[in-house]
Amino acid sequence: MASGAPVGGVDYPKTFQQFRDWFVDDEACLDYLEQLRWPDGFVCPVCAASDAWRVAGRMWMCAQCGRKTSVTAGTIFHRSRIPMSTWFAAVWFLTSQKNGISALALQQQLGFGSYETAWAWLHKLRRAMVHPDRERLCGVVELDETFIGGVSPGKDGAGTDKIPVQIAVERLGPRKLGRVRFAVATRPGTLELVEFACREIEPCSTVRTDGARMLRRLTEHGYLHEAVDVYTAEEKDSVLPGVHLVASLLKRWLAGTLQFSVTRPHLAYYLDEYAFRFNRRTSAARGMLFFRLLQQAVATDPHPLQELLF
Ligand SMILES: [Zn+2]
Repeated sequence: MASGAPVGGVDYPKTFQQFRDWFVDDEACLDYLEQLRWPDGFVCPVCAASDAWRVAGRMWMCAQCGRKTSVTAGTIFHRSRIPMSTWFAAVWFLTSQKNGISALALQQQLGFGSYETAWAWLHKLRRAMVHPDRERLCGVVELDETFIGGVSPGKDGAGTDKIPVQIAVERLGPRKLGRVRFAVATRPGTLELVEFACREIEPCSTVRTDGARMLRRLTEHGYLHEAVDVYTAEEKDSVLPGVHLVASLLKRWLAGTLQFSVTRPHLAYYLDEYAFRFNRRTSAARGMLFFRLLQQAVATDPHPLQELLF
């Protein structure tokens, strides 16, 4: 693999044709994962030694502690009975389409017998979309809450199904947005939004908000707080155009790609996927998302199916 920024055609396939040529079988996929997980050569996950022997079954045996390990050990692919080439195909379909793929479409593409299998796979992959040690947002950041859902057949629009979602987005210029972060809130309009800011935004950043009372606390946490008083929703859109735009794009994506209502326990995963896509929207090559997702997948804890079924 080339050092520096990944290169299309060298570090990741640029086209579906290349994808098929590179990953002809499981061996080719595992070779690729080894390069992603250990770009500078094998490192023992137990003792961090780099001396090891290859042993049967594509395992490595650490020369120092004697522990046997494989490239998928401790990742979302751990103990999967599904061929690695099928996983790769799922990752390709998920990342090569601008808006992602629904569980139903994935089931049809890969010929899975059950919708539940496709659904569980997508959720595993969504978990890999959050970089384990991602950097916090910085500079000028807009912060606000929005609501997802709320329209259920047979209900009177009382708002009981609305899920509050926190949004923070970097403003890089008058018409330019940077990275985004989301979180599901337990209750809207509480100090949870300040806690969210502390988790996701670097101190010393300028945080722009609608000036809700609890957000005055932001200054206590080292942020420069730009509170703008707003009295109507229209005003809010013009004062915080970044979060407003992100919120409407998110809602359109949820409605278009998933095509079913999102429940509270699963919303966080969809938010992770949308943030992954949004934060890489300027990548010219879709293959770059394929590369990043697999790279993060081999750095992610395993999540057995039963853990995903709430
Ligand atoms: Zn070791």
